[in-house]
Amino acid sequence: MRVTVLGSGTSHGVPVIGCDCPVCRSRDPRDTRTRASLYIQGEGGEQVVIDTGPEFRIQALKAGIDNLDAVFLTHTHADHLHGLDDIRALTWDKAIPVYANEQSIAELKERFSYIFRETQIGGGKPRIIPIVLTGTVNIGGLSLTPVPLKHGFLDILGWRITETARGGSAAAEAARTVVYMTDTSAVPETSWPLIRGAYTHIIGAIRIKPHETHFSFEQALETAVLAGTRRMLITHISHRSAHREIEEICQKFSEKRNLEGISLGPAWDNLEFDAPY
Ligand SMILES: [Zn+2]
Ligand SMILES: [Zn+2]
Ligand SMILES: [Zn+2]
Repeated sequence: MRVTVLGSGTSHGVPVIGCDCPVCRSRDPRDTRTRASLYIQGEGGEQVVIDTGPEFRIQALKAGIDNLDAVFLTHTHADHLHGLDDIRALTWDKAIPVYANEQSIAELKERFSYIFRETQIGGGKPRIIPIVLTGTVNIGGLSLTPVPLKHGFLDILGWRITETARGGSAAAEAARTVVYMTDTSAVPETSWPLIRGAYTHIIGAIRIKPHETHFSFEQALETAVLAGTRRMLITHISHRSAHREIEEICQKFSEKRNLEGISLGPAWDNLEFDAPY
């Protein structure tokens, strides 16, 4: 499968409106970070996204998204949900299922209540089918398993994504498994088995200093190492650190912990990679 980081920024995006800090004025394109979202294309042509942030339309145009089989939500904070209306252009021929936990589906129906109200014919609304998760969801050959996580006091979801249709050994499956966990401040004990045994981890961390509802860079790196990662990418990044500074932080962490052979670093918008790794 092919994975694209549609957005790698924290809730306010980078640059921040009205800010003239060095990162917000940086000329490095990797320091421009739209709101966090992930796009996955399966070998069989399956296309899904995790979260639809406020820049979804721009992200979808850039990534060339021309069809969606499903949307998966981590939670309903504005930076992860408020571009949902823009999937409208992909729902002219079919309705798209949106999978999330019970709390998120209830919140979605409230926030986007107009979608579910009867309006005049021709009214522009996306056609979505909200579905409360009961477990792993299979979309063609792609398999997405929800991973319960803590985001401060909030119960949110990460996703374990794998291409099950291709079979093979446990190692082959681990190589084509990606764990996406943004907006995380703690991994519940029961979720560790779900984040272990994947080669790739994309983990949210907003800054160097600890935060009440998000991992710091160091916490995210520690989590990835404990999960046995081979390739870890940091996402949901604030304007406090430039891409190059985060690369250095990851490099130092790697040297300190003797993690030769493990790739650790910040993600950036439009980063694409393949799994198997
Ligand atoms: Zn967020
Ligand atoms: Zn700034
Ligand atoms: Zn959040």
